[in-house]
Amino acid sequence: MFNAVPAAQLSASLRPLRATKIVATLGPASSDPALLEEMIRAGVNVVRLNFSHGVAQDHIDRARLVREAAQRAGREVAIMADLQGPKIRVGKFAEGKVLLVPGAKFVLDASRATPGDIDGVGLDYKELPRDVRPGDVLLLNDGLIVLQVDLVRGEEVHTTVRLGGELSNNKGINKQGGGLTAPALTAKDMEDIKTAMSFQADYVAVSFPKNATDMEMARQLANVAAAEYRHKPSLIAKIERAEAIPRLEEILKASDGIMVARGDLAVEVGNAAVPALQKRMIKLARDNDKVVITATQMMESMITNPVPTRAEVSDVANAVLDGTDAVMLSAETAAGKYPLETIKEMVAICSAAEAAEDVELDADFTGKTFGRIDQSIAMGALFTAHHLGAKAIVALTDSGSTALWMSRHRIHIPIYALTPRLSTQRKMALYRNVRPLLMDSSGERDTALLQAEAHLVSRNIVQTGDVYAITCGEPMGAPGGTNMLKICKAG
Ligand code: PGA
Ligand code: MN
Repeated sequence: MFNAVPAAQLSASLRPLRATKIVATLGPASSDPALLEEMIRAGVNVVRLNFSHGVAQDHIDRARLVREAAQRAGREVAIMADLQGPKIRVGKFAEGKVLLVPGAKFVLDASRATPGDIDGVGLDYKELPRDVRPGDVLLLNDGLIVLQVDLVRGEEVHTTVRLGGELSNNKGINKQGGGLTAPALTAKDMEDIKTAMSFQADYVAVSFPKNATDMEMARQLANVAAAEYRHKPSLIAKIERAEAIPRLEEILKASDGIMVARGDLAVEVGNAAVPALQKRMIKLARDNDKVVITATQMMESMITNPVPTRAEVSDVANAVLDGTDAVMLSAETAAGKYPLETIKEMVAICSAAEAAEDVELDADFTGKTFGRIDQSIAMGALFTAHHLGAKAIVALTDSGSTALWMSRHRIHIPIYALTPRLSTQRKMALYRNVRPLLMDSSGERDTALLQAEAHLVSRNIVQTGDVYAITCGEPMGAPGGTNMLKICKAG
């Protein structure tokens, strides 16, 4: 068995790296170039562009802002294009909004062309009358308003207000328990994929997928749109529909990662079910060698306050302890008053939670067998580095897979992934406990190993006498070819 060394007892110098990554959504509150650069320096690893807002040119401009700010900060930052998906929404109101009171009747009418009023409103999702039946419960505006379906007549869904409140233009509709038939990719999403590939977004997040087919379709579209840029984006499935839960494994297999999209998910499955689902999803993603992002309301109160609530601090820390690759900020950085402070708080919470983690190396792979040579080299590197108390684990990687496999296990030794490919470097910015570095390797193994050590020494990652484990492939530069593990002492 392994010796569990409480990480809190390890000196700070042994833990130079924050393992958990931070995804921050860009918006009006964070689009100033100098502020964005500061946010990146403070710890943003992935910037999310939310395609639910703005037009194509806004995203193109923002992507350039991100690339430039990352360059100035000298950090590798991935861009995630988050597609709007078939968010099912009500139409607009004559007065912009209405106040619904409990017990009142309200009609959602797919054929209504006139602006809405206190008696009813139009729908931008025309299929709703065919997706619901009497007794169904509809949740509007993230569950703040609850309507119960009385009857469906033609294009009209007649409801009674159960939980009232203010309903304004274009608010979202969810059906409790799931079951809306809208396909995951809309015509707008297909256009947005092209826009995202024009700036080579590293990740594309697909909203509301219900099965593997939705993800396969998104991948095909993304690959076609990316081909002319010789780019291959990674795909993230946002798990936010009740139907996606029983199909998690097939969705994972068709994706590069998932997002625990707690906002919409909580509306569909009920708030109380979400924490357990979060734990299950994180574990399942890691077991399947996929990445996982935990999202929504993590630091919600910091939209308006300079400090988080105790509950938010615990929520972020617990996601870290669950093993998430990344924690995500939405309105906190897109539209909040304290985007930079939020990043700093999150960094501090993640680092403290990681230091408190007392799992030194999960032993789950000792009982496993690996069919692939590269994968068993990756596991061998973890095992050996752990037992030797190595300072660093280093992977020379073309595709990033070696670093991904290594990062699916908990270990308090940082993984440095050296790659000649910029797109691989950016993609790895999301991987837990991986610091991606760009290194143009010479193509000859021994030279590349010397280059790698020089690179690590020049960045103060290892010093003379430090032991590190390094993996590479022979011949060099063939993706998936890792077949060598060497234990080195920096000289
Ligand atoms: P959204 O997705 O912010 O795009 O709705 C995340 C979620 O639903 O939690
Ligand atoms: Mn959502």
